Amino acid sequence: MKTIDEYFPDTYIQSRETFRSNLDKVRLYWPDAELTSRPIGKEEDNTIDMIYSPGTETNERVLMMTAGEHGIEGYAGAAMLDVFIQEMANQIDPKRTGICLIHAVNPWGMRNFRRVTENNIDLNRNYLVNPDQVPQDVNEHYENVMKVFLPNGIIDNYRLARIDLQTKLAKGLVSEGYNGLTKAKGMGQYEFPTGVYYGGKEKEENAQFLQAIQEKLLYEYPRVIHMDWHTALGPTNEVTMVMSEDDGRTLKELKKTYGLKNIQQFTPDVTKGDSTHHFHALKNRHYPDTYLFSALFEFGTLGTSMSASLREFMTIILENRLHHDGAVEEKDRQAILDEFKAMFYPEDHEWRLAVLTEGRKAMKSLLQNEGLFTIRG
Ligand SMILES: [Zn+2]
Repeated sequence: MKTIDEYFPDTYIQSRETFRSNLDKVRLYWPDAELTSRPIGKEEDNTIDMIYSPGTETNERVLMMTAGEHGIEGYAGAAMLDVFIQEMANQIDPKRTGICLIHAVNPWGMRNFRRVTENNIDLNRNYLVNPDQVPQDVNEHYENVMKVFLPNGIIDNYRLARIDLQTKLAKGLVSEGYNGLTKAKGMGQYEFPTGVYYGGKEKEENAQFLQAIQEKLLYEYPRVIHMDWHTALGPTNEVTMVMSEDDGRTLKELKKTYGLKNIQQFTPDVTKGDSTHHFHALKNRHYPDTYLFSALFEFGTLGTSMSASLREFMTIILENRLHHDGAVEEKDRQAILDEFKAMFYPEDHEWRLAVLTEGRKAMKSLLQNEGLFTIRG
């Protein structure tokens, strides 16, 4: 049995190593499983790694798990892939179930402890179904608070930068309202490449890769079950399942079916370019008879209070500014990166233990309620 910390790698390379070495374990149940490594982006040796196998007899359904769409969030996701392979893969019926495990959808971001890609793109705002899908006013909220969301020069004093930002955010809260800020975050923005929540002008390689997998699975399987691991959102030290309203079920029905405490639904009208919605759009367009379950699973860090969300805005904005404009003092640079880690990949033991416990709970519920466990006897 591993210690808690052994589930949580320090580097992208270490995490990828663990994932790759788990192929042997997967092959115990899916002997034909294969590992593919797809290089992504401009820099060398950043790869999306995938372990895939069809069902050993028929393709009745497939379990897909993705980690690291938001780079740094992939460390907790990688722990979940590991837990799944070590503890749960043996309970699934390989005869009828395909498996598709993906490590580091955004490998550059994971390696560099950023959420975005090397092009500063938030991948979960990059899956636009149609390029003309962005409505005219998509950036309206962002433009109004733009001054706050764009980098504005080298950070010469972290403490003062925080106070300055806090003042601006407070003003934003007054003029735009809290909803304005969160709307701008949800909608992303498609005009300012150095700003936060940038969705990009075209699909990133990573998104193209994932889209091809989505197509393949929808084409080959009548049932597709997809769990996408993330961090930061929701109550601290708890898992929250986040689903698009595309799913069609009510919150009440979802809670009853999966028995999870925290479930959130979002409507594609207030969130643009997210991968789950894209998955459903593909299904509805080409594979209307296919059953698709696709949800994000978030491990909460800072919490859900108003002060926590202000802290989150500050953390994301200052990390982005640091990346683009830098900081004069090394200690300020470190403080900003530490704060970013506290939000997306805390070292805190309690949190890591909660990820393992809550993640197992979510996985069990999903596998059970989607009928993936082996029927014994
Ligand atoms: Zn995320």
